[in-house]
Amino acid sequence: MSELLRVDRLAKHFVSGGGRFGAPRQVVRAVNEVSFTLERGGSMGLVGESGCGKSTVARTLLRLIEPDSGSIVFDGIDLRQASAVQMRALRQRIQIVFQDPYASLNPRRTVRQTLEEPLYVHRRGNARTIAEKVAKTLLDVGLPLDALDRYPHEFSGGQRQRVGIARALVLDPELIIADEPVSALDVSVQAQILQLLASLRKERGLSFVFVSHDLGVVRQFCDTVSVMYLGRIVESGPTRSLLDTPAHPYSGVLRDSSPVPDPRERLHLAKIEGEIPSPTRLPAGCAFHPRCPRASGPCMEKTPNLDAVAAGRSAACHFPLTARECA
Ligand code: SF4
Repeated sequence: MSELLRVDRLAKHFVSGGGRFGAPRQVVRAVNEVSFTLERGGSMGLVGESGCGKSTVARTLLRLIEPDSGSIVFDGIDLRQASAVQMRALRQRIQIVFQDPYASLNPRRTVRQTLEEPLYVHRRGNARTIAEKVAKTLLDVGLPLDALDRYPHEFSGGQRQRVGIARALVLDPELIIADEPVSALDVSVQAQILQLLASLRKERGLSFVFVSHDLGVVRQFCDTVSVMYLGRIVESGPTRSLLDTPAHPYSGVLRDSSPVPDPRERLHLAKIEGEIPSPTRLPAGCAFHPRCPRASGPCMEKTPNLDAVAAGRSAACHFPLTARECA
């Protein structure tokens, strides 16, 4: 496999207040020094609690949100240096699937209109070939052809997400950014959509950045995983290895608190304590220390680097868990 995407030291801070009316200026460090790579055909999970910055990362990859610093290199092209014209062409190769298909689909457009539009915008054929492409894509996501002339409100949540996936696929992208694509769906429908994404990935050689708060979903779908906490990646590595023997206490607690088929798989670390700190006032040292059952002196003073802890694994922790502690 070759590298498709390289993200290096990506940062995005949001500033509020500080205006004429005296509200204090506050900086939210939503994404802080985030780095990762994705192999062609691979699927990387980005996990963490709500507000950890994972969806902001997803949006910066498409420059739907402009990052403040860092680089995003897709197939050798630095997206942050790309012109508007280049970006327009690149967006055909990188598509996004949103969490809530109902909010992301235009309620006044039929499925046919929704799927045809990007093909016309990017001049991808004539009326006949575009109609054929739309019909084939709809069948590929498991919807019947009579869905073409229906509106979003006429579908169930799972069917709407299939339309959202079809819209992402119709331009034949190489990379899909999937931002919590199944979290708004019932568990049984989640399984069907994950199965669909897995078979599309195999058939089309697609690569995925898969954003989720659900470790069970990530375990099923992703080859590698990066765990985020308050804007930073705190652990990354191959999915199975990281979830079986997490090195960072936060990954361990996150895993322990997510539903698993076999309760014996739980780590039995202390339950996650306390509130997530405000992203405008990050604690000194390791940002996880106010909630960490292993915190001690150095944790409050020095921010840990994301260092290698095992082959292909890295964690940002002064006192990483050992495999024996996870057994
Ligand atoms: Fe816990 Fe310290 Fe590791 Fe942070 S550096 S996760 S506080 S043990």
